[in-house]
Amino acid sequence: MTSPTTQLPGPADASNRPLPIMSHWIDGRPVAVLPEHTGPVHDPSTGSVIARVPRGGAAEVDAAVAAARRAFPGWRDMPLLARSQIFFAYRELVYRHREQLAALITRDHGKTFPDALGEVMRGLETVEFACGLPIHLAGLNTPNVSTKVDAHTIRQPLGVAAGITPFNFPVMVPMWIYPIALACGNTFVWKPSSHTPGATQLQTELWKEAGLPDGVFNVVYGGREAVSAILEHPGVDAIQFVGSTAVGRYVYETGVKNGKRVGAYTGAKNAMVVLPDADMELAADAAVAAGYGSAGERCMAQTLIIAIGDAADRLLPLMKERIGKLKIGPGMEPDVDMGPVYSAEHRASLIEWIGKGVAEGAELVHDGRPLHVAEHPDGYFLGVTLFDNVTPEMEIYREEIFGPVLGIVRAKTYDEALSMINGHQYGNGTAIFTTDGGAARRFELEVDVPMIGINVPIPVPAGYLSFGGTRGSAFGDLKMRGEDGIRFFTQQKIVTVRWPEPGRREALSLVFPGNR
Ligand code: NAD
Repeated sequence: MTSPTTQLPGPADASNRPLPIMSHWIDGRPVAVLPEHTGPVHDPSTGSVIARVPRGGAAEVDAAVAAARRAFPGWRDMPLLARSQIFFAYRELVYRHREQLAALITRDHGKTFPDALGEVMRGLETVEFACGLPIHLAGLNTPNVSTKVDAHTIRQPLGVAAGITPFNFPVMVPMWIYPIALACGNTFVWKPSSHTPGATQLQTELWKEAGLPDGVFNVVYGGREAVSAILEHPGVDAIQFVGSTAVGRYVYETGVKNGKRVGAYTGAKNAMVVLPDADMELAADAAVAAGYGSAGERCMAQTLIIAIGDAADRLLPLMKERIGKLKIGPGMEPDVDMGPVYSAEHRASLIEWIGKGVAEGAELVHDGRPLHVAEHPDGYFLGVTLFDNVTPEMEIYREEIFGPVLGIVRAKTYDEALSMINGHQYGNGTAIFTTDGGAARRFELEVDVPMIGINVPIPVPAGYLSFGGTRGSAFGDLKMRGEDGIRFFTQQKIVTVRWPEPGRREALSLVFPGNR
């Protein structure tokens, strides 16, 4: 690691302009790295390299954890109202910079600018929840749990918390983690995705401007080496991870083995059930929006449409009509519905998935592969793909594809659809489209997926509620954010209190104390 400075000369782009080099952020300062210790950041709309991002490892993690440990006692002991004032200031700054953050998301990720703006606002909801931290951290007080004995509970921070986050929501997902960890009095080390560093840097600078003390919030870029260092570091107490299931399982198992509290929120294959009595226009809008929005790179995307009875035959032409009108192009251009996918490698893997679906016997209704965006021949664009007659035996049914690839599954009955969802290896979000309140009520009670939409395709709960899935979509006992988030990032202490009273003393007894 070099000394803190961002002034190191970097490699140049095609027009010989020096490329910005992103920095780790440790103890309230950027920590620059030599260009040879960085990797490229691509603009998915053009394929060009737009910045370099550090490849951190054990040394950077160690420095960040040390800074966070030093800052912990001061942050933990800061009066709650003083702490919440910093959150109010951060809330204002994020709101004021929302368009700048959204533009950085679009630049690095590719999603459309309005979609990115929506992401920032959904992240901000959790910052706003954290502003009420004095209420969230309140304990219970119970007088007279026994004769002249009272009890109260207090919630205290764990110490140093870490967040490891994915490329697809560079603002919203981190904002579901760090506001809660910090509000509870922990200090924080963030290991963001290296694909989308622009918005990371700005969030970090806004914390500084909001008055967060140095060392409370630290950022280390990197891949497996940095993550392993976090998982093994004795100075890290708790970790929340969001990303793919394979990495999340590794993070959960390794972190727990090393004595840390870990929550990992992972991959998905969400299914939307359409009953024959559904409003089909509404269902078609929902299926196309939830399947192809953000190029399908959302953990709450609906990627399987389970249509019951004749619903598929009525839904399909409506979906085709909508698909035909979608405009695909760079996310900053007006009227674009869908941007590119995030990387060249991911685009190649999606093309393979489409080929696999065809080989498995699914009916290719709309093929996204031939799409060509003439003005940006090197961008990572892919058209939308729709399969019909997808069945549970197929790999495109079982696995997360994470792109603009949607499959219609035909089921005869509600029970068949329900058993498909409950038997799937993933369980993140689900939805039902129907006008029958009784059917919706049954679904809500019977489906084994925690986040449910009724005529709502992407049922991401509001930012003050908890978020998380089941089975292969989450590891750990608590969800993130909301009430579970507060519980995750605190230790509860239960204090039983008796004050001696002059002249009143009970006789010595070795009997186990009762509470009557
Ligand atoms: P990813 O698993 O590749 O990366 C997530 C994080 O882990 C990143 O910070 C990355 O740098 C790090 N990482 C990657 N490979 C690693 C390895 N081998 N060892 C240690 N660390 C590693 O995920 P992604 O591609 O960035 O994001 C997409 C995935 O995230 C999808 O599966 C999606 O469903 C999931 N996701 C889930 C939720 C949720 O709340 N359940 C939300 C958003 C995204």
